[in-house]
Formats: sequence, structure tokens, C-alpha cells
Amino acid sequence: MNYDVIIIGAGPGGIFSAYELRNSGLKVAVFEEGNELSKRKCPIDGVKVKSCISCKTCSIMSGFGGAGAFSDGKYNITNDFGGSLYEHIGKKTALELMEYVDKINVAHGGENTKLYTTAGTHFHKVCTQNKLNLLNARVRHLGTDINYTVLTNIFAELKDKVDFFFNTHVSDIKKTANGFEVVADKSYSCKYCIVSAGRSGSKWMEGICKKLGITTHSNRVDIGVRVELNAEIFEHITDELYESKIVYTTEKYEDKVRTFCMNPHGIVVNENTNGIITVNGHSFEDESRKTNNTNFALLVSKHFSEPFKDSNGYGESIAKLSNMLGDGVIVQRFGDLVRGRRSTQKRLDENLVVPTLSATPGDLSLILPKRILDGIIEMIYALDKVATGTANDETLLYGVEVKFYNMEVETDENLETLHNGLYFIGDGSGVTHSLSHASASGVHVARHILSKLS
Ligand SMILES: Cc1cc2nc3c(=O)[nH]c(=O)nc-3n(C[C@H](O)[C@H](O)[C@H](O)COP(=O)(O)OP(=O)(O)OC[C@H]3O[C@@H](n4cnc5c(N)ncnc54)[C@H](O)[C@@H]3O)c2cc1C
Repeated sequence: MNYDVIIIGAGPGGIFSAYELRNSGLKVAVFEEGNELSKRKCPIDGVKVKSCISCKTCSIMSGFGGAGAFSDGKYNITNDFGGSLYEHIGKKTALELMEYVDKINVAHGGENTKLYTTAGTHFHKVCTQNKLNLLNARVRHLGTDINYTVLTNIFAELKDKVDFFFNTHVSDIKKTANGFEVVADKSYSCKYCIVSAGRSGSKWMEGICKKLGITTHSNRVDIGVRVELNAEIFEHITDELYESKIVYTTEKYEDKVRTFCMNPHGIVVNENTNGIITVNGHSFEDESRKTNNTNFALLVSKHFSEPFKDSNGYGESIAKLSNMLGDGVIVQRFGDLVRGRRSTQKRLDENLVVPTLSATPGDLSLILPKRILDGIIEMIYALDKVATGTANDETLLYGVEVKFYNMEVETDENLETLHNGLYFIGDGSGVTHSLSHASASGVHVARHILSKLS
């Protein structure tokens, strides 16, 4: 055996498995197709390179830290959203593991960051009175800068205890008599294999599951827009809660629309998933990097029934439409959307809310399905009742934001597949959709491997 444990993917899931195994005496390797953290650099500089040039591996999505490396670093400690890990390991264990992950982050540079909580907030009542459901959570907001520091410190602790193979794509996993053969630049053998390939590895993982006879279940896709407005409009909420997850049931179709990934005083950014440009958001702890705007996503979940299985393909097709019309992301003023006209550069230049992302002014009604767009408009008016000004003409909507979910891989309560010793964790497993759940799943399987040895 080359290794006792091979971990595929150095996102939060893979990192926390490696962290938990670092002093176990086991020989552990991590294979990551992206770069180490210090070498992750997106070429878009706004001057020479203005839009995505589709690098071989995307520095935003791949490399040490995974998709979360340049994220806002919001670790939500809750079973109410962020994944369904609790369905496998139980609510109590899931919460304990998320708290454990939080302690590690705090011990590696996050000690001066704030833990926000919805417990006891008067905002619950205000939401309920306006048909909005505020979900319960505690959230550790690391911020993009401290998140980077924490990852740097964790890597420093791991690098002499675990073998890291960066810029190394794993092409295949084969079952052997004693474990697994992991095919990368060459073949490596291991007894246990943890697959934590995230969203960027979703297509590859689907192929592996098919080949190894592991059942996958079709999942959902969330489609919507990123809203950007003057930070003052949401300040009474973000100052107290930082991130509020609010769900609204539309009157017209009884669809659920939810807020997602709130970034007070943040920036809107491009995201590249398999060459398709969508939108996302960040914010920084550093005062000097704060903007006058707050951004958050409004998303509608689409679940499909048989015979349609390709929910991600559906989301991609909608995102491709915006890429086709806007050569990337499209931005529209809310006032223009409700008046049925496209936004123009002139109207954007005169807009009170100054966009933090350079996107093409356009018309989102040409891109988003009517039902989704109707739901988003309804929710903006509902939010206006708890945060007056949300439905102002000047509010900016960027499209599209798509949250892709992987097919859910059939695993047991230990996230182990029908092949003894082969685990699927993190967002790639379809079980988690967040930093805290992905990290917790990594700790869980590492502990399971250790329990087999004791
Ligand atoms: C811009 C942005 C902001 C976000 N903000 C937040 C936030 O504030 N809070 C939150 O909870 N979540 C956030 N998320 C989501 C969060 O980042 C993910 O839920 C989390 O990173 C999932 O962790 P993971 O380890 O499962 O997968 P990933 O982080 O996706 O890591 C998987 C890794 O596997 C590697 N890989 C894939 N296939 C292969 C292969 N075949 N061979 C070798 N390596 C491979 C990839 O390169 C990647 O580095 C954000 C995501 C983005 C993109």
C-alpha cells in the first residue's frame, strides 16, 4: 500500500478529514487538481483581463481551501440549512461536529471574529408578521481575509504530516482486493479512500459512481439573482444577525423563495462553474475593504421528477442564456425590471446604487423563467416591509445566480458506500452544501476510519 488513506479534493471536507487524521500515525495523502493556496490567483484583474478566460483549473473553485477559499467564510452552525448531514449522522452529532470545526477555525486565526446568533432576536416577530420565516442559526463570520489566514495556518500544520499532491487530477478510482487504486499522474494504492471533490468534481464523480455501481439520486437546482442595495437598508438586520436566512412562500404559486449568502458591505463577484459564468458575493472583515453596498441572493429551488434527471443541466442552460446575451453576468435595476425594460449603461451610471461588479446591463426577463422571476419580485416586495427600500428602483439584480447540487450518492450513516472503505463526503456527496457541513462530514469519516482501527 502507498497510503492508508487517500483523500481526493482539498476543500473543507478533505482538509478536515486530513486534519483529524494528522496525528494518527496513518499514512495520508491528499490529491488536489488545483494549486496550493498561495498560488491560487484568478487572472481577472479588471484591466488586462476583464472576464473569465476559462483556465485549466479555476483558481476560484479549485485548490487548497476548495470552493470556499475566497468565500466570505460564513460557518453556519445549524441543521436548518447548509445540507442534510443530520439525516445520516443525527442532529446532535452534526451540531457537535460543526462546533468542533468552529473551535479549530478559531484556534487557527479566527479568534477575533464574531459568532452571531438568531436566538432571542426581535426580528423573528417582525418577519413572522410579514409572512417571512427567519431560520435559526449561529454563524461564525470569518470574512474572506481571515478565512484565508485560517486556511494558511491549517495548511502549515498539515504539510509535514500529510502528503499533498497539488495540480494533480484524479482520473479514476478502482476497487482492489485490499482497498483502492487511485489513478492520477500514476497509480497509488490505499486502504481507505475519501472522495471530497465538491461541486467542481461533480461530473467526474458521477462517472465514478456509475462505474463502481454506486447508486445516485437526482437532486435539485436553485436558480435566482443576486440583489445589491445600499447597505443602510439592511443594516438593522445585518448588524445584529450578519447573515439572515429568510424564506418566503409566494402567494401566486406557493413556491419558496429564500435569501442566501448575505454580504454586508461586500462585493458581487463572478463565479465560474465548468466554464459557465454565474454570480456570487463576498465581504471582508478588514474595514478598509468594506463597500457601501450589501448583497445577497434570492433563490428558488427546482426539484424535478422522472423522467428528467439533469437538474444541474437545467440550471446551466439558464446560466448559459445570460452568458449568451450578456457575455457573462447581466445586471438590471429593479425599477427597469418591473417596468418591463432593459437597463442601459446610462441608467446604471446615474443609479444611486453603484454596482460593485462590472456586468452587462440587460433584461433578466429574457433569461429567467416567468415563475421564478415572479417569485423573486414578490419576495422583494415582501422584504421591503421588513427592510424598507429593498424594492427601490435603484436596487440592482445580477443574473443569474445558480446553486448547483450534486447527485446524492447513496451512503450509510457513516457516509460509506457499498464498497467498504470508500467514502463520499462534502458537497460532492450531495449531502452538504456549506462550509460547516462539508467540514463536519470530513471529521466524521476520519473518526469512522479511526474507529475501525481501534
Ligand atoms: C464564491 C463562493 C462563496 C461561498 N461562500 C460560502 C459561505 O460563506 N458559507 C458557506 O457555508 N459556504 C459557502 N460557499 C460554499 C462552500 O464553499 C462549499 O459548500 C464548500 O467549499 C464545500 O466543500 P467541499 O470540500 O465539499 O468541496 P470544494 O470546496 O468544492 O472542494 C473540492 C475540491 O476537490 C477538487 N477536485 C475535484 N475533483 C477532483 C479530482 N478529480 N481530482 C483532484 N481534485 C479534485 C477541487 O479542485 C476542489 O478544490 C461558497 C462557495 C463559493 C463558490
